[in-house]
Amino acid sequence: MSPTSGHPDPAPTPTRQDLLGLPTVELHVHLEGSFSPKRVAELARAAREPAVEERVAWAFATEDLADFLAALDWWCSLVRTEEQALDQAAGFARFLGASGVAYAEVTVNPTHWTGLPRPRLVAAVCAGFDRAADEGAADCRLVVSLRRDQPDDQVRQVLAELARERPARVVGLGVDGDERAPGAHRPVFGEAFAEARRIGLGVTAHAGESSGPEGVVAALEQLGVRRIDHGVRAAEDPGLLARLAAEAITLSVCPTSNAHLLYGSLERHPLALLDRAGVPLSIGTDDPLTFGIDLPEELARAAAVAHWGLPRLDEAQRAGLRAAFCDAATREHLARRLEAWDQVPAEARA
Ligand SMILES: [Zn+2]
Repeated sequence: MSPTSGHPDPAPTPTRQDLLGLPTVELHVHLEGSFSPKRVAELARAAREPAVEERVAWAFATEDLADFLAALDWWCSLVRTEEQALDQAAGFARFLGASGVAYAEVTVNPTHWTGLPRPRLVAAVCAGFDRAADEGAADCRLVVSLRRDQPDDQVRQVLAELARERPARVVGLGVDGDERAPGAHRPVFGEAFAEARRIGLGVTAHAGESSGPEGVVAALEQLGVRRIDHGVRAAEDPGLLARLAAEAITLSVCPTSNAHLLYGSLERHPLALLDRAGVPLSIGTDDPLTFGIDLPEELARAAAVAHWGLPRLDEAQRAGLRAAFCDAATREHLARRLEAWDQVPAEARA
């Protein structure tokens, strides 16, 4: 926790423009959210789907989590070849790099991508990240995510595949989807997360978005995670907030996504409350192309809603770096880039 954490920062609130050169770390972003309306329309035409314009309009106008997940299912299912998956991943890494993201852990939930077998999808996405990294784009790693309504045998199959063989860019296991689904907290998820740790993967879980504080507690106790995607509804339980702060559990919070799908507006977002409680916070975009944002824009919105200045946003990058699943050399390299940026006088940054 920084000395400024928990208090409104006296520095002025940065704008997106102020943040364009900041070398950022993003832990909560989904490849499923990397599709623009134009790209979905292209893929839909290539897949000879009917009523493309109408379906694209519907897919980008969803306002609740269930409809949103149905839209993701549709556009990801349009990716039918490894080349399309590689292009999607490489294009997204370039988009992230262009907005200043130095390092990202990108979640992919293969259950949405029904047009490609899972191991081929994972390999193609990692090949796309390799290609983009070679070009100097963001260094993207992959978090393979399970889905809360995924059958037990499929969950075990995913872990068996990851244990047998996985590209080096696969660094973590996650779980997402609707926590209100029947069986969302089955024992198989605890078994899968234990196996993921055993084979050397980092673990993270979506919780406290479609579930209340009890979902966050379940993620900590059943899955053993030290990092939670969203977790924002922990704000409803002061005892849980104290626990998250005491145990230094990092929440990767996505204010714009939460405003769309949970709170109705940014003004109702509990970011400032979470911060005052001393919970480590990293900021992510969740699904940037869906929401029409990038990370500098999201950081500027977070700063505005929680009254943060640049030093507090800088601390959010460091919190992300501490919670990242990368190796020590990558972490040190990224910390040096952040320090170098800190040394540049503000007027020379733009
Ligand atoms: Zn998410």
